[in-house]
Amino acid sequence: MRQPPILMYHWFRRGSEQSQSRSPQYEITPELFERQMTCLRRRGYESVSLSQMFGDRALPQKPIVITFDDGTLDFWELGRPILQACGFTATLFVVTQYVGTESSWEADVGEPARPLMDWDQLRALAAAGYEIGSHTHTHRELPRLTDDEVAGELRESQETLEAELGAPPAWLAYPRGRYNSSHKAAAATAGYHGACAIALKYRDLGYGDRFELKRMTIKSTESMTRFRLRLLAAHFVRYNDSIDHGLQSTD
Ligand SMILES: [Zn+2]
Repeated sequence: MRQPPILMYHWFRRGSEQSQSRSPQYEITPELFERQMTCLRRRGYESVSLSQMFGDRALPQKPIVITFDDGTLDFWELGRPILQACGFTATLFVVTQYVGTESSWEADVGEPARPLMDWDQLRALAAAGYEIGSHTHTHRELPRLTDDEVAGELRESQETLEAELGAPPAWLAYPRGRYNSSHKAAAATAGYHGACAIALKYRDLGYGDRFELKRMTIKSTESMTRFRLRLLAAHFVRYNDSIDHGLQSTD
């Protein structure tokens, strides 16, 4: 079946500021983000959470999932007001050990640490209809970890989110988009409903399933024409809704 479009964003940068990032393509200015969200609204899109998208209830005619990885404070300051003005919400993936501090997990790739949202802000977002998912407990790349460490990342993140927000997260986003079939299985075993992957190129969109939902990467360097093309391409992702698809046996 066709997978509804899922957009992936990361961080914001004020247009007046020089980027310090090693990955400036993931730092969008509020001006460009506003143009993109206005474009979605004019085209009749309505934002839904991942849980709504894959739930039993009827969806609006043009549903779209807007996701943000890492839970940075710039989302609260710059992204949230724009979404609110457009009547949209988003699904946010947070790194539970670091909530309320800064993204110092990026030091190994030379990325400057960014301030992160705290639990009060995440609770306010959840109350306003945002879905808060897990981006693991420490953002370590799963293929570098042992099976026990992977299980620990998934479990600690669930326990922390449940303690802070009152419910365990339904959805996971793999740190840096790195995973293999054993990580998909581990996420299913841990009780997640599904997990988000990354599609950097059109050819990566291909075919997915509930534990590798292909998200369309929206880069901060692209024109509105390119954004509209990406939006179009995101409609051609096909996926298998069977939870067991592609998972290794965990017996
Ligand atoms: Zn991340």
